[in-house]
Amino acid sequence: MSGRRPFIAGNWKENPDTLEAAIDLAKVVSTASSSASNVDVAVVVPFPFLVPVKETLKGSNVLIGAQDLYTEDKGAYTGATSLPMIKSVGAQWVLCGHSERRALFGDTDETVNAKLKKVLAAGLKAILCIGETKDEYELGVNKLICGLQLAKGLKGVTKEQMENVAIAYEPVWAIGTGLTATPEIAQDVHSNIRAILGEAYGQAVADKVVIQYGGSVTPETVDELMAMPDIDGALVGGASLVGEKFARIINFK
Ligand code: PEP
Repeated sequence: MSGRRPFIAGNWKENPDTLEAAIDLAKVVSTASSSASNVDVAVVVPFPFLVPVKETLKGSNVLIGAQDLYTEDKGAYTGATSLPMIKSVGAQWVLCGHSERRALFGDTDETVNAKLKKVLAAGLKAILCIGETKDEYELGVNKLICGLQLAKGLKGVTKEQMENVAIAYEPVWAIGTGLTATPEIAQDVHSNIRAILGEAYGQAVADKVVIQYGGSVTPETVDELMAMPDIDGALVGGASLVGEKFARIINFK
């Protein structure tokens, strides 16, 4: 870490399955965050839980985020949730381009870019998720793929807007699989991401961008990952659903 404030976010995905369980989990995160003063913490929760979880987190430093958005502001788009709706319930962060949205729900680099710009134009903050598949990793093109996703995802995003962007490097082969990229592999990709950002926006901007690692982060792996100079945080899926695990992760050493 070089002056960047660590940022750890729990991506709850389509979990837990009841409001009661969501509130219980939020209470644990709220308590755990009181001892994690030098880190920004967020929970990225399903739409129906945004309001009650935010209410539960009142008085804590935990931020709240949404997992996706639709780019139209309102209208005949059954099943969609707009950015104005997300903003109006007080979410601060929105995930853009999570690999599950790309693989299961048809997000492309172009739609991810449109979503990201929508978030930024509204003054909210976005986590842009990028990462290669297992085949791409084995072919040795992980940095190339990340570079392309980064360039396409950030197309048209200004230097000033980069203050509100975090990048999450999430190798698809490490998500939910128990396989974590080694700290060295992740650091290699993260420093490449920062170099690309430096070319696009200048080194001073690149040096401020928080780059999270995501992919089976656990209490056992977080300390080593966070010790790497370009790993500034984590986007945590499975382990963010277990209160005591997420508590340990946000209190990384
Ligand atoms: C994620 O979904 O962003 C993620 C990193 O999941 P997991 O930690 O379960 O691999």
